[in-house]
Order: sequence, then C-alpha cells, then structure tokens
Amino acid sequence: SEALTIADTEIVKILFLKGMAVSITQNLDVPTVILVANEAGVEVETQEPEAEARKVTEMIDLEDLEYLHRRPPVVTIMGHVDHGKTTLLDSIRKSKVAAGEAGGITQHIGAYHVDLEHNDKQEQIVFLDTPGHEAFTAMRARGARVTDIAILVVAADDGVRPQTIEAISHAQAAKVPIIVAVNKIDKEEAQPDRVKQELTQYGLTPEEWGGETIMVPVSAIKGENLDTLLEMILLVAEVEELNANPDRMAKGTVIEAHLDKAKGAVATLLIQNGTLKVGDILVAGSVFGKVRAMVDDRSERVTTAAPSFAVEVLGLNDVPAAGDEFEVFNNEKEARALASERAEKQRQSRLMQGRVTLTGISAQAQEGELKELNLILKADVQGSIEAILGSLQQIPQNEVQIRLLLAAPGEVTQTDIDLAAASGAVIIGFNTTYASGARHAADEAGVDVREYNIIYKLLEDIQGALEGLLEPEL
Ligand code: GDP
Repeated sequence: SEALTIADTEIVKILFLKGMAVSITQNLDVPTVILVANEAGVEVETQEPEAEARKVTEMIDLEDLEYLHRRPPVVTIMGHVDHGKTTLLDSIRKSKVAAGEAGGITQHIGAYHVDLEHNDKQEQIVFLDTPGHEAFTAMRARGARVTDIAILVVAADDGVRPQTIEAISHAQAAKVPIIVAVNKIDKEEAQPDRVKQELTQYGLTPEEWGGETIMVPVSAIKGENLDTLLEMILLVAEVEELNANPDRMAKGTVIEAHLDKAKGAVATLLIQNGTLKVGDILVAGSVFGKVRAMVDDRSERVTTAAPSFAVEVLGLNDVPAAGDEFEVFNNEKEARALASERAEKQRQSRLMQGRVTLTGISAQAQEGELKELNLILKADVQGSIEAILGSLQQIPQNEVQIRLLLAAPGEVTQTDIDLAAASGAVIIGFNTTYASGARHAADEAGVDVREYNIIYKLLEDIQGALEGLLEPEL
C-alpha cells in the first residue's frame, strides 16, 4: 500500500471485486501483487526467488530423498466446452506418436505419453486424456493429486467463458501451475490479445506483460505451435522439480477402472513413485491384487512401469475407484490385512470425517481454531454475486479470513460439490437451485450447502459462524 500510495483498504477492495477475499494482514503472492499494481497503474519488477527446498509430497517419503530422479510431468487439459480440449489432446498425440510405432494405434487407458527431444535429451510428457476440471476435481475430492501442470485452453475467437473461470479456480485451489493455450488462432475472428487481457482479471498475467503465466498461441486443428506448447510444459516441469525414486516399490493413484467380462477387474494406475512390476502385490483403495499383466498406452505388454507413467493392470480382486491410492507390498498377508482395514476406514471416514459445515466452523471459531473459511458462492445472477461480495467485504476478517474459491452465477452442480469436498468449503446458494443429482451428491459427500434468498440472512450466518455464535441446527 505504501509503494502504491493507495490505502490498504483500497487493495482489499480491488481484490474483492475480482472475487478474492483477503484480509489486511494477509501476504499476497506475486501474481496477485502484480494484479493490484496493474490496477493502480504501477509496473512491478519481479526477481527469481531463492531455490526452494526440495518438496516432500505425499507420495515421496523421507527415505526416498537421497534417490530421487526426475520424472515426466503429468498434465491435465482444462477449459470451456468447445474451446478445443479434445482436439488438442488428439493432435498432440497424433503429432508425437507415429502411426507406425510399436503397438500402432494407441488405446485409451486414461492417459498417454509423448516422447520428445529437449535440450538434446529424450523427455516425456504424460497427458491425462479425460479433459476438463470436473474429472480433475472429482479425483481431488478423493484426496488424489495427480496433475502436475494444467493446460488451460481458451479459444481466441470466444475468450474467457464460465468454465474457463471455473477451471482457473479449480487449478488454483489445487495449487497446480497453469499454462494457457490460446487456441484457434487460425480463425479470422481470433483475438489472442483480448484473451490475455481478460485472463489478467483472474490472476493470470502473461509473461510479456510482466506476469508469470506462460501463454502460447496455438491452433489445435492445424497442429500449429504445439511444439512450443510442449517445450513450455517441460520448462515449467523443470521449475517444479518433479522427482521420484524409481528404485522402490511403486505407489500412485488409480485413474480409471472398470469390470471387463473376459479380463475381470481392469484398472489404469498412474505410478507416482517407484516402479511397478508384473507379479507385484498391491493394495488399491480397499482392493487387493497381484499384477498379472500390464499394458501401456500404446497397447504393448510391459513388465515394468516407471514414475509418471500409466499402465492398465490386470489381477485385482475387485474394481477400485478412480482417485484411490495404490501401493505395492512385500508381503501378501500384510497387503490383504491393509485392504480390509482400508475398507473399514473408508467406511468410517465417509461417516465422520472431512465434513465441513457452517455450524462446525462456528464451533471451531469459538475455540479459536479457525483461520480460514472456504466458500463457494452460486447465485441466480451476476448482480447478486456482486452485491454479496460487496457485503462480505464489510465483515471484519481479523481473526478469520474468508477465502472465496468460486463465485459464479448458476445452479449448484456436481462439480461445485466436488470442489467443496476437495477443498473443505461450504457452498452458499443464493436464489438458486441444485442441478440434477447435485443434492444427492452433496449428501453423499457430506458437503454443507446453505440456501438463501435474503442477503442479510446469509451475511448474518457467515458473520455468526466467524464469531463462533452460529447455533447448530436441530
Ligand atoms: P472441447 O469441447 O473443448 O473438447 O472442444 P473440441 O476439441 O471438441 O472442439 C470443439 C470444436 O472446435 C470442434 O469443432 C473442433 O474442430 C474446433 N476446433 C478445435 N480446435 C480448433 C482450432 O485450433 N481451430 C479451429 N478453427 N477450430 C478448432
């Protein structure tokens, strides 16, 4: 505020109007600082931060730290419907996986990899081939984190649309870096600069304008500039320092699974650490199995699968769920015991855990435990959203901060429920209804959806929750 010579409350206001609820004592990240500065007409110079300490992710154990090797990035493509996600996935695959190659036609197993040369080295990128943030967040709702980098496809003839904004919220909530593919630049009506301009409103400022987001103009249909896009993915992957220890027993996540009449349970496993081998004994979610055979994304029988690669596995005793974690074990008895223990735990946690409710939050606030209230706001029209955001801004947020994950007009959808479940958020529906199936999904996932049609009532409840005064409903 000093550097920009504007009041600190002005900064809070600028961000609130952009859908970001921040408090006066909060630290902002660099893209947000740039965003505020741009609004105030000030240019920001950024410096590279000190090399970050090596990250220990859920999948990497302390014992692995000495044996880490680079692994390929795992990429998900997101964006508004018809902006070209499927076309982009197809043309990357076609351009990089030669038809004559072993296995010929690639088969759909939920992921595919491409090989490319980068700085004189053979590198790979793995694409999850169910595009969209719905699949991404459904996985997260189950606790899985599989995506390293999100490609946000925005059609240059259409610009930022509701699902573009949703995809940005979902990727940001998961703290996954975003690369923007400005698609359909072959079209006469294409206005790539307008897309870039629009994206700055959502915290994505292109590098050439002083921001940190890589934006690549492409034509998915003509295959134009795809090599640049792939290069950029590898560049971001390098910064992210994606590592795994290939010399240990595998663990990772189930990305697809189904029952095949002839083969039995078939599951696609994404290896996130270690190497998976035929004959391995594993537990996936609450399912036990011994790997009988593995097929890769090029329909080849393989005997091993390395970190970041996906393989279709036969030999499980049941069908696990997409998003379940899997892990290889030395000992069959131990594995079986764990599988049944997991089944029990899953049942328990479904009953008890992870349920975030406004009254629960109120109780936490009373104990002084609450630091942050995650909200998803769905309302009938944009006007209501602005009115609600304006009023939320008036609520003092010294002790607890309101973090708005998404504010959009429309019904409460399954995707909103997944985002809430994945991020521990409460959903506020204002003058709106549930999309079909969403009420049931909310019950299943234990997501608190509060419906209002009077703004002051909504504010009263939120303020009450933050102050620890909200009475539990009977
Ligand atoms: P999705 O819904 O995001 O998966 O979009 P699709 O990949 O199905 O593409 C939607 C439509 O846009 C299709 O008719 C595609 O042929 C078209 N399309 C996709 N990419 C391009 C492009 O780069 N240029 C042009 N002109 N059309 C494209």
